[in-house]
Amino acid sequence: MKKVAVFCIPAHGHTNPMLPVVRELSLRGDEVRFYSFSEFQEKIERTGATFVCCDKYLPELSTKEEENLKKVSTTEMTIQDIRITASMDEFLHGEFTSFEPDVVYTDSVCFWGKLNAWKYDVPMVVSTSTFAFNQMSSTYMKNTPKEMAGLIFGLPRISRELNKLKAYGYKVKGLFSLIQSDNQTDSVVYTSKKFQPYSESFSDHYNFVGPSLMTDIEPDKRNIRPLVYISLGTVINDRLDFYGKCIEAFKDQNIDVIISCGKSVDIASFGKLPENIKIEPYVDQLKVLSKADVFVTHCGMNSVSESLFMATPMVLYAQTNEQEAVARRVREIGAGIDLKDDSVVGIKNTVSDILNTVSYKESAQECCDDFRNCPGVKGAADFIENAPHSSDGVDIIRDLSKANAGLQVGYSVVTILLANILFRIISIKYLWIYIVLAIVLSMPINKLLQKAAYKHLVKTKLN
Ligand code: UDP
Repeated sequence: MKKVAVFCIPAHGHTNPMLPVVRELSLRGDEVRFYSFSEFQEKIERTGATFVCCDKYLPELSTKEEENLKKVSTTEMTIQDIRITASMDEFLHGEFTSFEPDVVYTDSVCFWGKLNAWKYDVPMVVSTSTFAFNQMSSTYMKNTPKEMAGLIFGLPRISRELNKLKAYGYKVKGLFSLIQSDNQTDSVVYTSKKFQPYSESFSDHYNFVGPSLMTDIEPDKRNIRPLVYISLGTVINDRLDFYGKCIEAFKDQNIDVIISCGKSVDIASFGKLPENIKIEPYVDQLKVLSKADVFVTHCGMNSVSESLFMATPMVLYAQTNEQEAVARRVREIGAGIDLKDDSVVGIKNTVSDILNTVSYKESAQECCDDFRNCPGVKGAADFIENAPHSSDGVDIIRDLSKANAGLQVGYSVVTILLANILFRIISIKYLWIYIVLAIVLSMPINKLLQKAAYKHLVKTKLN
């Protein structure tokens, strides 16, 4: 029997995949304490784990901070994460010294879980509720210039907050060591090796267990007429306009439609609904997906995993970068298409494209089979109980970083040599053009070189 301390940030998308694993650990007789917040108490207690309420450590937010959090600002979320860690320090000192956990199971962006596991030298398994993101897979996330600027200008603020943590005895190496998936940390990822982008770049410390779900339901698509399910998740779902267009697109068609609109939308505002359309604030999504023929989704990692687990192809309506990364992977495996035009006609045509093209259904079925062959919840529980894990020492990302350093030096040397030659044959007054060009081109050239180096490493190290 193991003593397991579980930590997660206050977010459903991060908490949900941990729950089936926690239930499995509790059923095995492990003593599990789940440090979370009252909003999640009921779900957590249903797993058999002991819920430990941490509400009083959540900081009071100013209106501006609250607004930024609602906009899913990375800087704001990171700063709140650091502040909660500081305010929980004394409490968690008491917990770690009295409960003495054998292992910490913590969400990947829950700083207080990770930092305390390091501080008290307890084996740790990280729960990754999205794809695992490293140097390679993060190329799936395209930040807009505005987001990049927000991040860059936010860095000094984050750095100041992080430095404050050192006074509490936390081993803080830097922001990226806290948020990136590295090849030395034992990690559970709730997808398959096949669906994870660049999965070969992750070491043996990673266990791709497949979707973590509490369900025995199997896909069953024997509907009298096609069923379309529409949901934008639980966070940014206040989209009256979009639901209105969906109603308009499908009213009185020979299909059934279920819309989950979230709890902040007033359903009465849609007036009398056509007989073939139902709108609910929240549905049993897995049950609906088991029957659905197409899912119009915001591409949250959980929703997409659940959809593929139920062999349902998708119309992809990503709203954030992370969701765009998930959408790209769905496109790549051929189980969905983008909603490029979100007008009434666009919605209608895209849904009908999915319904009338068998290949989307087949790809979703293939992924369903792959997911159902993964180690699953039991595999995740075994991995946690047996942490820490060793690896065969192959670390493609470490080797890639070394190769990259060499490439950067090579690029600089070649640039300087060329500048020297140009300086002799053309006038010095045009040299600035060359320098600007060299700087502008350095990013795409290095990217190309990195891709080539990665391919070479995969070929030589893994075959
Ligand atoms: N969900 C649900 N019923 C609903 C809407 C959502 O059960 O009506 C669940 C869904 O099954 C998934 C989670 O809420 O597990 C949403 O997570 P996701 O990562 O897809 O998106 P987020 O809400 O975090 O944006």
